[in-house]
Amino acid sequence: MALERHGRATAAGVVVFWAALLSLSLAHTLSLHDGQRERLALEQARGLFGLIETVRLWNAGHGGLYAPVTEATPPNQWLEVPDRDVEIAGRPYTMVNPAYMTRQIADLVRERGEVVFHITSLKPIRPANTADAWEERALHRFEQGAEEIIELTDYRGRPAYRYMSALTVEQPCLACHERQGYALGDVRGGISITIPAGLITAETGAARRQAVVQHVLAFLILSSLSVLFLNRLQRDWRALKAAKAEQEAMVAARTAELRAANAELERSNQQLEQFAYVASHDLQEPLRMIGSYAQLIDRRYAGRLDSEGQEFLGYITDGSRRMKAMVDALLAYSRVQRGELRRRPVAAAEAVAAALANLQRALAETGAEVTCGDLPTVSGDAALLATLFQNLIGNAVKYRHPERPPRITITARRDGAAGWRFAVADNGIGIPPEQAERIFRIFQRLHRPQDYAGTGIGLAISRTIVERHGGRIWVESDGAAGAVFRFTLPAAE
Ligand code: ADP
Repeated sequence: MALERHGRATAAGVVVFWAALLSLSLAHTLSLHDGQRERLALEQARGLFGLIETVRLWNAGHGGLYAPVTEATPPNQWLEVPDRDVEIAGRPYTMVNPAYMTRQIADLVRERGEVVFHITSLKPIRPANTADAWEERALHRFEQGAEEIIELTDYRGRPAYRYMSALTVEQPCLACHERQGYALGDVRGGISITIPAGLITAETGAARRQAVVQHVLAFLILSSLSVLFLNRLQRDWRALKAAKAEQEAMVAARTAELRAANAELERSNQQLEQFAYVASHDLQEPLRMIGSYAQLIDRRYAGRLDSEGQEFLGYITDGSRRMKAMVDALLAYSRVQRGELRRRPVAAAEAVAAALANLQRALAETGAEVTCGDLPTVSGDAALLATLFQNLIGNAVKYRHPERPPRITITARRDGAAGWRFAVADNGIGIPPEQAERIFRIFQRLHRPQDYAGTGIGLAISRTIVERHGGRIWVESDGAAGAVFRFTLPAAE
């Protein structure tokens, strides 16, 4: 529920974000369009002004022109020159000076379109040329140095671009205007050109509408895509959460199962250890009895037994000896399993030395050569570690190759931050790879007692020792050129 609410708030936030971003972009685009409109208006106004200015100069250059007097062109009452009205071939003509001409052109332009232009001055000779409020402000600005002005403003209730450029006094103007006190280069007035905004808007309107439509479309597409994406994200997230919860429940169930199985295994292991101990311990006594009485029979009744009887007695003695060896082995195994683990820092070299001391005779008899690398100090039970090395080195000697004296190498290297990995390598008969796992099980042997003496307990004890130290043991061999027994032990702290 909280997730839904959160999701809705995020979606609303994203929509608001796109709305804000695209509004800003639209505002910027429209302001660019506005700038473009103003430039268009300015170009049009400048073009018109330049044209009028040129025609006016042409007129002034002739000192004014004569036009036939008509209703539309009456004599200009504001023009005070001696030859204002003349008669040519019996027809009255009147002088049309630049100002009069400009007015007439302005009337013509106004009739033909919506553009208005107006010649004006702060000191007009003709009252109709008086500046309106906007023109007056513009004329004052010309006096302060401005040369042209354009503004989007209100003109008779409608928006319009109003342009004005200063009219400066040039040589031909002085003929009439010197008496007003103007000198060459003075700002005498200006011509205002008013272009209704509608005329320009018509040109850029389509582009503006397109920009608006594009922005609205972009807003709709981006916000719906974002909302869709968010929805999808939210759905995926929900699915992921559900999967995680399911997985956690599964892991919890499995852990509980494992824990139960572990407890069960531990219980049955303990029972088995108990059984092995009790059985081996309690078997010792009757076994001793069988052995002793077999010997007694052998001693006292040897002469009275026939050869078959002698043979059977031999089987009993041999069987009880082997059984004793197995019971002893089982007891030793049981002790390694149940005994206390007295951990302390042990120099592996010392454990090896203790093992070699116990194996001295076998080593000397076989001409074995033992090489030790740099061996570390580990955390372990010194006596058990000596037994471990003794079992492995003893096997290397026992399972030597008939054609070469045993060569045994003991090395160690780091195994992660907290441990060491040892290797006891020999050049003996090797172990078939498919038997590599089996030989570590109790009483599992690869040879008959008559070929190699033994009970098959040594490697089972070795594995128990390594595992009780928290390590693992395995063998690598190609089954011919010797074997390498590897095991890990924790480093001393
Ligand atoms: P045992 O030596 O009393 O038979 P172990 O548990 O020590 O019992 O060994 C189990 C079997 O593993 C041996 O019977 C032997 O076949 C094989 N084995 C152990 N060590 C070696 C070795 N270094 N080279 C070849 N075979 C070995």
